[in-house]
Amino acid sequence: MTSAIFEPITAVKGIGSETAAALGEMEIHTVKNLLEHLPYRYEDYRLRDLETVEHDERVTVEGKVHTIPTLGYFGKKKSRLTIKLLTGRYLINVIFFNQPYLKPKLAIGESITVTGKWDRHRQTITGSECLIGTQSREKEFEPVYSVKGSITVKGLRRFISNAFTQYGSMIEENLPPQLLATYKLMPRNDALRMMHFPLSADDIKKARRRFVYEEFLLFQLKMQALRKVQREQSKGIGQEFDIKSVEAFIETLPFPLTHAQIRVVDEILNDMKSPYRMNRLLQGDVGSGKTVVAAICLKAAITAGFQGALMVPTEILAEQHTQSLKAMLEPTGVKVALLTSSVKGKKRRELLHMLESGEIDLLIGTHALIQDEVNFRNLGLVITDEQHRFGVEQRRILREKGANPDVLFMTATPIPRTLAITVFGEMDVSTIDEMPAGRKAIETYWAKHQMLDRILSFVEKELKNGRQAYVICPLIEESEKLDSLQNVLDVHAMLTQYFTNRYQVGLMHGRLPADEKEEVMQQFSENVAQILVSTTVVEVGVNVPNATVMVIYDAERFGLSQLHQLRGRVGRGSDQSFCILLADPKTEVGKERMKIMTETNDGFVLSEKDLELRGPGDFFGKKQSGLPEFKVADMVHDYRTLEVAREDAAKLIASRSFWHSQEYAPLRSYLEGTGVFTGEKLD
Ligand code: ADP
Ligand code: MG
Repeated sequence: MTSAIFEPITAVKGIGSETAAALGEMEIHTVKNLLEHLPYRYEDYRLRDLETVEHDERVTVEGKVHTIPTLGYFGKKKSRLTIKLLTGRYLINVIFFNQPYLKPKLAIGESITVTGKWDRHRQTITGSECLIGTQSREKEFEPVYSVKGSITVKGLRRFISNAFTQYGSMIEENLPPQLLATYKLMPRNDALRMMHFPLSADDIKKARRRFVYEEFLLFQLKMQALRKVQREQSKGIGQEFDIKSVEAFIETLPFPLTHAQIRVVDEILNDMKSPYRMNRLLQGDVGSGKTVVAAICLKAAITAGFQGALMVPTEILAEQHTQSLKAMLEPTGVKVALLTSSVKGKKRRELLHMLESGEIDLLIGTHALIQDEVNFRNLGLVITDEQHRFGVEQRRILREKGANPDVLFMTATPIPRTLAITVFGEMDVSTIDEMPAGRKAIETYWAKHQMLDRILSFVEKELKNGRQAYVICPLIEESEKLDSLQNVLDVHAMLTQYFTNRYQVGLMHGRLPADEKEEVMQQFSENVAQILVSTTVVEVGVNVPNATVMVIYDAERFGLSQLHQLRGRVGRGSDQSFCILLADPKTEVGKERMKIMTETNDGFVLSEKDLELRGPGDFFGKKQSGLPEFKVADMVHDYRTLEVAREDAAKLIASRSFWHSQEYAPLRSYLEGTGVFTGEKLD
């Protein structure tokens, strides 16, 4: 049965075909879409004392006009009207842009109510709305909607109001009674009404509470259903590995595994053994020993007769991993090979052939691994390192290589729990939350750029003791801009001069050809160069234990998690290591970020802080997003609800009644609409 609420938007009074087309641009096609287009904020017309208003906040104040308005024009149609307003104990400025018609109405002594943005420093309100004399308002709150094209907020308010009159009674509940009761949530129709037409701040709060839960629950249902589908419908391979050989391999390692490593190896091997396809995220701080875990799991897959693949974001890293995995695995009879873009011609053909014939057990490389021409004989386990750098599409292609291989994503950027359960909601997560014993915490200092001389003498002292140093300059990735490249070149030139005849200074950036990069890294790791000036290409994985100092230029330009990653390049040996952040942050938040870097070495703490300070959108950087967009809910502020909703969703998906009972019909039809299922029934 389809309800009239699904009728096209033109059924609403006042909406003709032109308006409908404009609304269509906003993804509003049906009456239901319109009713569910929620405000993103409210205009709050309650009068306030300016004392309590923050800089840049919107505010409504009442007062008396204190000076004759002055009106200035600039450009053809632009104008600025300025008055002084006496409000309470304050004499403030009020500016109205492009409302010249207000001038004659603003006589000295006239009472007015102004709404606008408060500039605390200039003691000025930039007014957007103004009530004069006896004019008054019915409502204390007005919803503000996102709009596009010819649609205005006022127009939208009217359309929604009309839609409510006509269709308000047809809004159906989608949450089951039991959940509504448990959390004392408002029914859907009341909540929608209050979101659009609130009478008080409390209305907004209660209505919002319901929609936060609803949004999270629906989202988590989708993720959990996806997970169920992936587990049960894509037949995985039950890897029957030789546990004795795996244990023997672990015995050959020069150190005992940490408890956390043992635990995650267990979790991963259990997944690999099961007939389900593994889709797991392994997170652990820099240096927590993920590579070893990867090696053990790869070894296991190989003893079960499968091939393994390890995919990493940069060629430098691919080479480093190849070296260390060869050292670990080849003595146990595993054949390891490296495939990068610089493996060409005959060598490449041979390698691809050996891969197809199964002579190669483990292939390591960058994106090159997911090209069409690369065919495995029997791929059983794919591990990607630093997975957040791979896009969603690459993750998919990777999964589709081979007959349903198990997939493990590794990341050294600890992902705040709130994000992990949204972005990776369909995955299982293993966490290494323990560092190998005996690690010394890196000492981190924050210095202004003007202290560079003192810092260089400190660096020199370490070099005299036989240590090495990294100097990092920001902003250069694959698509390097010339000016930031200049930055790293300048610093390199300056340091070469400074340390002339005493120490060698290497230079590394993404624009160098692959063989040069390799040579530079080689020289640094063999201590031919004592200092490495580099862009962030050394961020991930690079391992030179003799390097004990890292200086980071313009540190305020990096995210906390990224600084932490960079910092993780030192502190890899047994000596005390140091990280010096050169930064002149201009904002309080910027200062706070530098300060927290000096206070903690815990990547999880930093990532939570990063999320708090920069918000979820910025957390992963611009490239990747994959972040779901919630209309009402805020992943950071509402994360308690997110966790609750996740648990509820998991319980629902796992229960039989969810798939049969009438009270869950709306949720089931929501799931059908998301396209998670491809026909089959899931119970
Ligand atoms: P990650 O990849 O998590 O940054 P790695 O796997 O590169 O960390 O490990 C960092 C260093 O710690 C390596 O030199 C590795 O050999 C060493 N290591 C790993 N696990 C242990 C352990 N259980 N005990 C001691 N050292 C370890
Ligand atoms: Mg690593």
